[in-house]
Amino acid sequence: MSNEKLTKIEQLCRDKNLKMTGQRKVIAQVLSESEDHPTVEEVYERASSIDGNISLATVYRTVRLLEEENILQSHDFGDGRSRYEEWEDFDNHHHHLIDLESGKIIEFRNDELEILKEKIADELGYKLIDHKLELYGVPVDSKRNPGKK
Ligand SMILES: [Zn+2]
Repeated sequence: MSNEKLTKIEQLCRDKNLKMTGQRKVIAQVLSESEDHPTVEEVYERASSIDGNISLATVYRTVRLLEEENILQSHDFGDGRSRYEEWEDFDNHHHHLIDLESGKIIEFRNDELEILKEKIADELGYKLIDHKLELYGVPVDSKRNPGKK
């Protein structure tokens, strides 16, 4: 295992000269492998199934550090809980649609939308620096769809 490939998060930690303890490595690995947007508690559950000595406090500290270093970004999808995923550059970012029925989070990109946002800022006399966008919906065929007969 001497030639182990570093995950993207581990690589970023190394680039930023963060000390990588065994536990931090496990947490970085869990975060890299997560396809969803886990909360700290979910990261803790996954990490502690790999290393039973990892504490929730360690996961909190590590996640906070990675967020401060712009290795992770946090989202609040309306339930007041912070969820984490790998940092993405502005040029390469995605947005989220939150399915209010299942809680599923769907990622999307849309070039027209990006152009429109720049245009809106420009028309208001601003250079766009950052933005946040979350869509909330229910499936069209859901009973919770107010438009469904
Ligand atoms: Zn995402």
